[in-house]
Amino acid sequence: MATAFDRIVDISLELDPRNFAMRTPTGFTKDLQFAMEVLKEHDAPGGAGQIVRGVHMRLHAGSHVDAPEHNVRGGAQIHELPLALFIGDAVIADLRDKMPGKAITQTDLEKAIGSYLRHGDRVLLRTDHNNSYDGGSDKWMKASPYLTIEATRWLIEKGAVIVGYDFYHGNDEPGSPRVFHNSRTLSEHGVITMPYLKNLDRITKQRVTLIALPLNIIGAEASPVRAVALI
Ligand SMILES: [Zn+2]
Repeated sequence: MATAFDRIVDISLELDPRNFAMRTPTGFTKDLQFAMEVLKEHDAPGGAGQIVRGVHMRLHAGSHVDAPEHNVRGGAQIHELPLALFIGDAVIADLRDKMPGKAITQTDLEKAIGSYLRHGDRVLLRTDHNNSYDGGSDKWMKASPYLTIEATRWLIEKGAVIVGYDFYHGNDEPGSPRVFHNSRTLSEHGVITMPYLKNLDRITKQRVTLIALPLNIIGAEASPVRAVALI
């Protein structure tokens, strides 16, 4: 059966080397920022008139999905996840009033999506913060809200299979037991995180079909996606 839709809303952040940067905190062996390189020019001698570029990027650059292995040693990798996870119903939680930097509580989520969230849904957390994404500054990070521990548990209990963010997803409630506690907890329960979304304000329905397929990379903890909502 064909999927009927009127419009495709692109909710992916541009991978633009002029406006994209990643934090490189302690522990990285290399600062691999997103960059593009021309490997062959159209007029290269013997080059058959083609241009060929390559990119340098982390698998976590731009809109992407994190498989459980990202936070859990031995956890499932991208190629082990069923593709059906990445195509299906998504609901949008309007949390614009949590800007800047406020807590997203269980009550907030109940109020935003509690009446229509179904087990197996994907949940997109909307603040519109990334509509003015500034390259990932400290200011951008600090202005991003955070899920409380109980809100994270609620998403897991309600059966969310993907949690998408249009703001920095690494902030946690003050006093959290671990760094990246919420992302780690989601990964530990097999929930996929999908950061660096944008344009969620263009989704005019409560429930849409999300398509965000990862690349067919073998042996990786994350993959870039082109995330779209069918309306
Ligand atoms: Zn990631």
